[in-house]
Amino acid sequence: MTTLIRNGTVVTAVEKMEADVLIDGGQVVALLGRQHTVTPTEEIDATGKLVLPGGIDVHTHMELPFGGTFAADTFETGTRAAAFGGTTTIIDFAVQTKGQSAMKGWEAWMEKARGNCAIDYGFHMITGDINDQTLKEMELLVHEGVTSFKMFMAYPGVFYSDDGEIVRAMQKAAEDGSTICMHAENGIAIDVYVQQALDRGETDPIYHGIVRKSILEGEAAHRAIKLAQVTGAQLYIVHLSAREALDEVIRARDDGLNVHAETCPQYLFLSLDDLGNGFEGAKYVASPPLRDAAAGHQDRLWQGLRTNDLQVVSTDHCPFCMGDHPRFGTQKQLGQGDFSKIPNGMPGVENRMELIFNGGVSEGRIGLNRFVEITATTPAKMFGLYPKKGTIAVGSDADIIILDPEATHVISADTHHMDVDYSAYEGWEMKGRVETVLSKGRVIVSDNTYHGQPGDGVYLPRGLSQCLI
Ligand SMILES: [Zn+2]
Repeated sequence: MTTLIRNGTVVTAVEKMEADVLIDGGQVVALLGRQHTVTPTEEIDATGKLVLPGGIDVHTHMELPFGGTFAADTFETGTRAAAFGGTTTIIDFAVQTKGQSAMKGWEAWMEKARGNCAIDYGFHMITGDINDQTLKEMELLVHEGVTSFKMFMAYPGVFYSDDGEIVRAMQKAAEDGSTICMHAENGIAIDVYVQQALDRGETDPIYHGIVRKSILEGEAAHRAIKLAQVTGAQLYIVHLSAREALDEVIRARDDGLNVHAETCPQYLFLSLDDLGNGFEGAKYVASPPLRDAAAGHQDRLWQGLRTNDLQVVSTDHCPFCMGDHPRFGTQKQLGQGDFSKIPNGMPGVENRMELIFNGGVSEGRIGLNRFVEITATTPAKMFGLYPKKGTIAVGSDADIIILDPEATHVISADTHHMDVDYSAYEGWEMKGRVETVLSKGRVIVSDNTYHGQPGDGVYLPRGLSQCLI
């Protein structure tokens, strides 16, 4: 069975061409000029539309246990929502907790995902307990296709690693060629400010944004970079939100260090102001926090995306309901009267592609090729999935989206597919809409209807990063 996507404009990270895409056996088998005589089994008309590589979101947390509850989306609901928004691959985070084996943690997450996903998926490993056994397991995990390890300079007593643990993990990563993903915020210092705010009776969500100071993200980024430099490890800073941290990344890259960073839509479009308005601000509690717009963080992040000082946009999708979740019960309300107890995280996996298309391409901040590069191609290269994923080329998986650049729609919790009772972008009008989504050559979303089933998505063992500066 062959499928032909006809009459569309195909865009990759480097090309824009008037071509038809021929698909067979789940892969792209030819890019054809308009004058051809191919008669496919099935045809999709893409006249006036863009034909793009499916999005790759390298930072999601489905079913993550956090702050006494669980992230609301399961692998089933979260990956289906991702598909609706034009994302055809996710990399989620398996968790090793203190005292537990990393390998066991990965197996547990494999079990959660298996048979449930709408799209293909891989895993990073959160190494929450660095010891001799974990270091050995890091190598075993690389052989299983888990080639990146996330560490936290934040959340003392939960996921936190001290500098010594970070150095040991980085030494091992340098030896194996794997990547260290870093949550760069100085959690020890932040916790002092948290306690002082609470002691003053400052308990509203807005204080979450005020105490987690951008300078302390910059400090942690600097320290992570220096530790990566001294150990020779490849470093990828996750969810970079602050200009101080971006300045550190720019300096490191100018010095030739193998340092990369991602940002997320919430840091490009939302700000500290959203954390105001009483407890409503809990919707926007994530770490790092939304930053002060007046301090210029957003403009600097966009500039970083244009100049390739930032290479990837992911979501850090980690939704918690404002009201009770049918299965997980109280979520954001856990932090009534104490902002430090609000589960950290925001929904976004469904919105990333359209938000960045609208705010980036439609509003003229970035070009089309760059849009593809930061949402699909570089994520695939960064985490060892390219060229199977992340482009439209002969031999690549036919993970393809058809986007109407002129169509508009309004984001709302009433119509989104994420299992969470609010949208961080409620009422926002988007220009540019993902209309058809193919995963491995099969249409899984069209006419705003899902045509796939749980288990269509399979585990992707990943290779080493293909990104050097
Ligand atoms: Zn995260």
